Amino acid sequence: MFNAIVLTQEEGKTQAQVQVLDEADLPAGDVTIRVAYSTLNYKDGLAITGKAPVVRSFPMVPGIDLAGVVEASSHADWRPGDTVILNGWGVGERHWGGLAQKARLSGDWLIPLPQGLTSRQAMAIGTAGYTAMLCVMALERHGIRPGDGDILVTGANGGVGGIAIAVLAKKGYRVIATTGRIMESAYLLGLGAAEVIDRAELNGPGKPLMKERWLGVVDTVGSHTLANACASTYYNGAVAACGLAQGMDFPATVAPFILRGITLHGIDSVMVPRERRLQAWGRLAADLDPQRLEAITREIGLSQAIAAATDLLNGEVRGRLVVDVNA
Ligand code: NDP
Repeated sequence: MFNAIVLTQEEGKTQAQVQVLDEADLPAGDVTIRVAYSTLNYKDGLAITGKAPVVRSFPMVPGIDLAGVVEASSHADWRPGDTVILNGWGVGERHWGGLAQKARLSGDWLIPLPQGLTSRQAMAIGTAGYTAMLCVMALERHGIRPGDGDILVTGANGGVGGIAIAVLAKKGYRVIATTGRIMESAYLLGLGAAEVIDRAELNGPGKPLMKERWLGVVDTVGSHTLANACASTYYNGAVAACGLAQGMDFPATVAPFILRGITLHGIDSVMVPRERRLQAWGRLAADLDPQRLEAITREIGLSQAIAAATDLLNGEVRGRLVVDVNA
């Protein structure tokens, strides 16, 4: 028997509660995992509250991330006792996820716990941090190097934003953080931001082209903010877009693309091939200061994750929530 958050639907409304399940209830899969930690990402917030149709079938155990130990495996790559992590692949959306003490899934989706990270640290990073690294890697592939120009990070007090700031600052980039919580400026400067600006500067309708202010952008919010971030990017700069916390719309013109030659890199974390995942996690182990990660992280227990999902969507959570599924 084990504890899990279970989502059900009644009259079109999602209900979430901690339930005791039998191992026989677990879905099909060739690896069974004793979960140590999971996390709460924006998408988990959407799943648990039912605010967006993230979950495709009910009952569902949410949790797009997990870290734990292999208990049983018929997959060639994994043996009992191996420490593993999982991000994405539709887990917590179409396949039971990590907000539970046990999980059973395809061994093809797992990667080893990155060397140098504990299970708790890996989940403090979670999909949010791994996506932040995918954004940083996209800017690097574009050829942007520290010293070339400033990097804007939007949604700075969120999970993706905080880890993006910490990683970029450690690599020597000058980071401008934009936030709706300007009172958290000291925290953002502590993560390594050089400058903090109010998101009100960017989140309303803007002009097709505006004064050039940054060479690269990690955008977690979409909508007018993304449009204005593009319109203020230097000639030949790049924008990595991964999120929609402000909105899914993109009310922009082609001007920054055809007159300034900027590039918009779309970032998806769910279906990223294994090699790039391993690369991103290796970089996170090397390029993220553990003390800054700890400063971003708050730990909660499994049952607290349900209420925290609403707080997260309301923009009331700072940084990352790591979930001890055994507490
Ligand atoms: P968080 O909830 O931790 O952070 C989102 C942040 O966005 C908030 O903290 C807030 O920052 C800002 N924000 C919230 N509402 C608004 C608004 N109306 N207008 C402008 N800014 C707003 O989420 P995550 O960091 O975990 O995720 C960020 C986004 O990235 C989400 O949309 C998520 O779905 C997406 N994502 C996408 C992935 C992918 O594969 N493409 C993977 C992971 C995440 P502040 O208070 O500083 O303004």
